[in-house]
Formats: sequence, structure tokens, C-alpha cells
Amino acid sequence: MEILETILDINPNYSIIGLLAVFFTLEQVSGTPFSFKKRGNHLFQNILFQIVLIVLNLFFVAIQVYCIEWLNTKEIGLLYLVALPFWTKLFLSVVLYDFTTYWIHRASHKIPWLWRLHRVHHSDTTMDSSTTFRFHPLELILIYQTGNIVTAGIFGTDVTSMALYYFIIYIFFFLEHSNLNYPKWLNSTFGLIFVMPDHHRVHHHQEQFYTDSNFADIFIIWDRIFGTFKLLSVEEMKYGLKEFEPEEKQTFLYLMKSPFIDSKKNSI
Ligand SMILES: [Zn+2]
Ligand SMILES: [Zn+2]
Repeated sequence: MEILETILDINPNYSIIGLLAVFFTLEQVSGTPFSFKKRGNHLFQNILFQIVLIVLNLFFVAIQVYCIEWLNTKEIGLLYLVALPFWTKLFLSVVLYDFTTYWIHRASHKIPWLWRLHRVHHSDTTMDSSTTFRFHPLELILIYQTGNIVTAGIFGTDVTSMALYYFIIYIFFFLEHSNLNYPKWLNSTFGLIFVMPDHHRVHHHQEQFYTDSNFADIFIIWDRIFGTFKLLSVEEMKYGLKEFEPEEKQTFLYLMKSPFIDSKKNSI
């Protein structure tokens, strides 16, 4: 219990800033699979997304928490049908939040108006630790926060498990997006259950056949079970989206407007 309380006591904004500092520093001092230029400007543009998100969340997280707690007080959801030990319910809840996220993410690649929001994350041609922040705030707030409320409504998951889920997911996000060399053996060990950096790199590959794979955030088992798992060597990877390649389309301002601009899916 104590360890859980310690984790949940940390302000998520502080842990995210700490993770960025660690991973961004590692990218500057260690060997990297890709060599990119203009890291400062890239970092700045991506941080702007996080700043907008933090400001909007001052309001929206409270709504999300209110809705989930309301569902919990009414004991709505499947997990209320069985009496489970605290830790089992906590573990199952984290798994279930990840399960819903997998399906929302998969739908975001299929449904055109969802893709308009989600392609902001895929637009990055020089992926590094700061790509973790490159999400359109409307996607995270309108789509994913609603998804969390739906998860709570169907399964009976609570706010504590959601907070733990977000704590874990950001560690995975930084591992997955960072421009670092990871040992290959990770894929054949932890990678049987968890999403490894090489898995998520495939998801950022420009070729749509690969973009539409490896949708999971924590548990790669969802892709393995539902037939969307693919693997490709890092050397063959080309990040980004063809229609977002010009430099003027890589700025924060353009990307914020981009969901409202029609640009054809132009995959190689
Ligand atoms: Zn995606
Ligand atoms: Zn990503």
C-alpha cells in the first residue's frame, strides 16, 4: 500500500518533466540509432503541446475524475460483480484501461475524423523522447479521457488505478519514443508481454502497412491476440507521414490547426 501511495503522491507533471530530463539527456550523451538535427527547436515545439495539455487538464481532469467517482459510488461495472482482493482489482484495472486504449488507438487509424487528431502524433519525422508530448490536446482530452470514463462504466475501474495506469504509461511512452539504442534481446523476452521500443518504432514507420500495427501502449499482448503485431528492424525505419514532411508542417501551430485542414492520407 505504502509504495502505491508514494507513487500516487507524486504530481504527474513533475514525474513527466523528470522523465523527459533523463531521456533527453541520455539521447545527447549516448549513441543513437538515428542522427537528427535541430534538437532544440524540435524539443521546444513538442513541449508546447504538453503546456497546452497541462492548462486544459486543470479543468478537464476534474470532470473525468468526477464522472468515474460517480460511477464507482453507484457500483457500476463488471468488477463490482465479484469480490476481489485489492491488488488483483488494481492489476486488472490497469490491464483494462490499457485494453480500451488499444481499441481507441486502433479505431483512430481507421475512422477519418479520429485520424485527423491522431496523425499529429505520427507526423514527427525525427522521433525522440519529446515525441511523447506530441499529441493533439483534443485527442487526449475528448477521446482518451472519455475512453477512461467508458472503461470505468463498463468494467468498474476506479481513479486510483487510472492514476497508476498513467504513471506506468508515461514510463513506457518515454522508453518507446526515445532515440536510444536498446538491446535486441528485449524483444524476445519482455517483448512477449510488454510493448518494447522496437514495437512502437514500427508503429511510427511511414509505410501504412506498418503504421497500422502495434497499437498497444503497455501490453503488446493485445496486438498479438488481435492480429495487429508486426516487427521490422530499426535500420529499415523511416518515421513520420509523407503529407507532413515539409518543415513548415512540423511546427506546433500548424499541427494544432491540422485536424481542421484536409490533407490526404499519403502513405508510401
Ligand atoms: Zn497511432
Ligand atoms: Zn508513438
